[in-house]
Amino acid sequence: MEPLRVLELYSGIGGMHFALKESGIPAQVVAAVDINTTANQIYSHNFPGTPLWNKTIEGLTLDDFNKLSFDMILMSPPCQPFTRIGLQGDIADPRTKSFLYILDLLPRLCRLPRFILLENVKGFESSSARGRLVTTLIKCGYTLQEIMVSPTSVGIPNSRLRYFLMAKISTEKVCTQISSKNFEAFRHAAESDSTEQPTVLSLPHPDACQLEKEMQGCHVLFKLETTKDAQRKMNQNRDLSVRQIQDFLEPQMEVHMEHYLLPPKTLLRYALILDIVRPTCRRSVCFTKGYGRYVEGTGSVLQCCMETELESVFRGLDQYTEEEKLQQLLKLKLRYFTPREVANLMGFPQNFSFPEQIHTKQRYGVLGNSLNVVVVARLLQLLVS
Ligand code: SAH
Repeated sequence: MEPLRVLELYSGIGGMHFALKESGIPAQVVAAVDINTTANQIYSHNFPGTPLWNKTIEGLTLDDFNKLSFDMILMSPPCQPFTRIGLQGDIADPRTKSFLYILDLLPRLCRLPRFILLENVKGFESSSARGRLVTTLIKCGYTLQEIMVSPTSVGIPNSRLRYFLMAKISTEKVCTQISSKNFEAFRHAAESDSTEQPTVLSLPHPDACQLEKEMQGCHVLFKLETTKDAQRKMNQNRDLSVRQIQDFLEPQMEVHMEHYLLPPKTLLRYALILDIVRPTCRRSVCFTKGYGRYVEGTGSVLQCCMETELESVFRGLDQYTEEEKLQQLLKLKLRYFTPREVANLMGFPQNFSFPEQIHTKQRYGVLGNSLNVVVVARLLQLLVS
């Protein structure tokens, strides 16, 4: 097979490019486009041979696109207009403008790309942007498949539920292999109806009933956790199809623990809302770009001291003085995951690296915007097969 000519839009740190390599599909990225200078430094550090355009997408002309003569588009448009915590500005948000511009250009290209893969956050599936995308693609003669996947479906202990759309020009045979066996969560084939939403395929956990019984005897719910949360976490930690966190950690002598330990102020203020995992766990929550800077909902922290039971630290914590509270919490030796470890949990290969001058907070920032490489690699294999 001739190597596919791939256009990578909103390229960031190159998550799509790494996924393409991981997929084993013979391909060449003929251009990557992004306006973020930090992300671009990291991209060119990892892919020095790839033409990287530090431009806005809406600044590119139809002619620029035609000259590239690409067979595939990979893209992760800005997700802020669609996130649940955002204002959900959707197509009215100025950050969606470049995406609408792509939709406008696509039908006018001299030659339509054979394949398109788009990634976005949960929330995109019910947006008007998605409606316009689907309508445009169908008009152009593409067959589509939409799916929502989290990395746990490929055995990685990290939740990052994302929307994916895969499109193939209709002369290609459509892949119908994606099923709940390949990927948990959602599956949707949108061949004709552009208004339909991806549907939920909920898979009952085989141990659910057993766990429920066990949970009934457990009244102590430390932290601000509901029984349901605790049950879900226990379920996740028992799912042997998912690897343990420890497989994704850096060798401990290489981690400068003191840089990553949670400071006393953070411990005291946010102890009850931290998502704490141990190396033996098979789960972690989604790492966002605010990781290491903000605490609430930005990602899990690691408990390094195994001898201390979480429960013994949290039980009765509110009755202690601040100083005693701190002493209790310090026992757990809680630390942030390092950027390398976050990258590992996002499926980035060992040869991925940061240029030295990019500092830790920037590293978390760009990783939080990126995607799970292993998930996208699997989807690409399905798309092209
Ligand atoms: N998949 C990427 C991240 C995508 S996040 C990765 O693996 O890192 C969205 C990216 O779109 C950001 O890096 C942002 O800088 C870029 N972006 C947003 N609007 C843009 C525009 N109008 N033109 C070019 N790039 C844009």
